[in-house]
Amino acid sequence: MKIAVLPGDGIGTEIVAEAVRVLQALELPIEMESALVGGAAYEAHGHPLPESTLKLAMDADAVLFGAVGDWKYDKLDRPLRPEQAILGLRKHLGLFANFRPAICYPELVGASSLKPELISGLDILIIRELTGDIYFGQPRGRRTATDGHFPGAEEAFDTMRYSKPEIERIAHVAFQAARKRSKKVTSVDKANVLETFQFWKDVVTEVHAQYPDVELEHMYVDNAAMQLVRAPKKFDVVVTGNMFGDILSDEASMLTGSIGMLPSASLNTKNQGLYEPSHGSAPDIAGKNLANPLATILSAAMMLRFTFNQTEAADRIETAVSSVLASGLRTTDIWSEGTTKVSTRGMGDAVVAAITKTITKG
Ligand code: NAD
Repeated sequence: MKIAVLPGDGIGTEIVAEAVRVLQALELPIEMESALVGGAAYEAHGHPLPESTLKLAMDADAVLFGAVGDWKYDKLDRPLRPEQAILGLRKHLGLFANFRPAICYPELVGASSLKPELISGLDILIIRELTGDIYFGQPRGRRTATDGHFPGAEEAFDTMRYSKPEIERIAHVAFQAARKRSKKVTSVDKANVLETFQFWKDVVTEVHAQYPDVELEHMYVDNAAMQLVRAPKKFDVVVTGNMFGDILSDEASMLTGSIGMLPSASLNTKNQGLYEPSHGSAPDIAGKNLANPLATILSAAMMLRFTFNQTEAADRIETAVSSVLASGLRTTDIWSEGTTKVSTRGMGDAVVAAITKTITKG
């Protein structure tokens, strides 16, 4: 199991260090090698994704990524900005399926902006297609309008498109993920208005014929956005295109209350993956030993589950995180009256200790 470790900038180095310690505590045959990425790589090599870093990532089975970015790079030309490293990795590794689970831990129910009864026990998985849709469609640009309400006016346009194989592969990913969960997929579209999403709906329905054991429902995106805050527990696996997924996955992630808790995975056809927390580099708290490392630790669990098929080891990490939360330990972002505040390192120590205990127990 070869892992490229790319901590990046800001809190990236602090949170990734804890996830690495957790992986080491599992005593599995894992090889880890680190490289610079983002602003740190720009400072050292003049580029956010140097050749050597890209090669390490491409040769590995999985990438453990921290976060990149800092406001001090905002004036750089776009191709040199730290965030370009993620786009480059997605492109070169062919990462087309983005997984974002939104799980509400019972101990953190009070941290959500929704009523406890709506989110307690919440466990949904948003699967977003990552390489197609209006974000990449051609042609796009600006021109003079020849029709519409204002012919002759300046206008801008983008092209929404999906090919059949692009929809088929993400549909397979969703149905297979559902088989490992409660066997229900909600495919989100806008088939009532957009031809691209009528096609999406047709292709997902066609692929579904191969998964008779999984229930499929179709839902328009506007309704899905509403249902996610009205009754989020009605969902299990949600699959959708790039743009709708971008919006819905952020909406779903906030149901659980804290961005410091949310892992993510982006996979290619070979199950190679990039695993990272959903949050950024948090320059405001960087270097202070304050960041919550749990999103990154849970991303490492997703790596074991999805890329390495090490379900038991993944469970072990997730159980350790639950037990640490149940024992009342909290980093500042999830702290509340009556719980015990710990640092980034302190939280990592507690998860490592919980894992070591389960290994000792057998
Ligand atoms: P952010 O996610 O870094 O921070 C938003 C807020 O959440 C901050 O108050 C921060 O302190 C807090 N926060 C984030 N992660 C936390 C954690 N683990 N524990 C405790 N608190 C946490 O978003 P931002 O401030 O908008 O962006 C900062 C930088 O991160 C920017 O340069 C942005 O481009 C970059 N960014 C990178 C990624 C990525 O690497 N994938 C994603 C988003 C933003």
